Amino acid sequence: MLKNKNAVVTGSTSGIGLGIARALAQQGAHVMLNGFSDAAEIEKIRAEIADQHGVTVSYHGADVSKADEVAALIAAAEAELGSVDILVNNAGIQHVAPVDEFPDEKWTAIQNIILNSSYHAIKVALPGMKTRNWGRIINLVSAHGLVASPFKSAYVTAKHGQIGLTKTVALEVAETGITCNAICPGYVRTPLVEGQIEAQSKAHNLPHDKVIRDVILAAQPTKRFVEIEEVAALAMYLCSDAAKSITGASIPIDGGWTAR
Ligand code: NAD
Repeated sequence: MLKNKNAVVTGSTSGIGLGIARALAQQGAHVMLNGFSDAAEIEKIRAEIADQHGVTVSYHGADVSKADEVAALIAAAEAELGSVDILVNNAGIQHVAPVDEFPDEKWTAIQNIILNSSYHAIKVALPGMKTRNWGRIINLVSAHGLVASPFKSAYVTAKHGQIGLTKTVALEVAETGITCNAICPGYVRTPLVEGQIEAQSKAHNLPHDKVIRDVILAAQPTKRFVEIEEVAALAMYLCSDAAKSITGASIPIDGGWTAR
């Protein structure tokens, strides 16, 4: 389906980003991975995806909190793969604290990694997409782009901001073959969420299964985690021709969380 398309997925050494990178490769797209991890581990993932699907898989270690490194990531993808047709802004971190105790450096890091990186990557990748009159921009947002939870002020702010960016970009390119959408998952069991389970378990002296049921999945009516493969499948649909009229949308995949 995506043969001869080239994709960049930020934060794709782990979790949802890695799942989307695998799905893109399965559809025949060449992929630029990005994110942090042990160098040997990254090379293992890169080679495995390339071998399994017979596509080019590159890696760039940009720290997406920095505008110049985001630009270098997009430039490297254009140089090594030939273009950036699909951009998935996925990199993210979390920090949980009351707003009046929130560490300023965490606030800034979250805005830079989630919101500002999306802006910088879109800004640099868009001219090439316009030239080819085809593009898919997917911002990996969250149910927290649509509703808030206490103690996540930086994350909720950045995620709401990404939705504003999604809508604005979609309108600006609406008459081209480029779409820009937001995917808004509920809880997915990735290292980002494992960290929250561990922190809550320690803070309240509760076993992990109780934290999962009573804290993490309290707002998720299905009472089960969304699977990485489900999020990746939605991303693949948004990349397909069938989704060419879907743009500026914020699509929940949250087990009914935001239906409340
Ligand atoms: P994860 O921790 O498994 O993966 C995060 C990725 O981002 C990793 O590859 C990491 O190396 C990378 N990253 C972090 N800081 C970076 C930086 N400065 N520069 C480059 N890469 C960086 O997390 P995940 O759960 O897969 O989250 C992926 C995205 O999905 C995030 O934007 C997150 O907010 C969003 N999301 C996650 C959930 C969930 O429940 N897991 C729910 C909704 C939205």
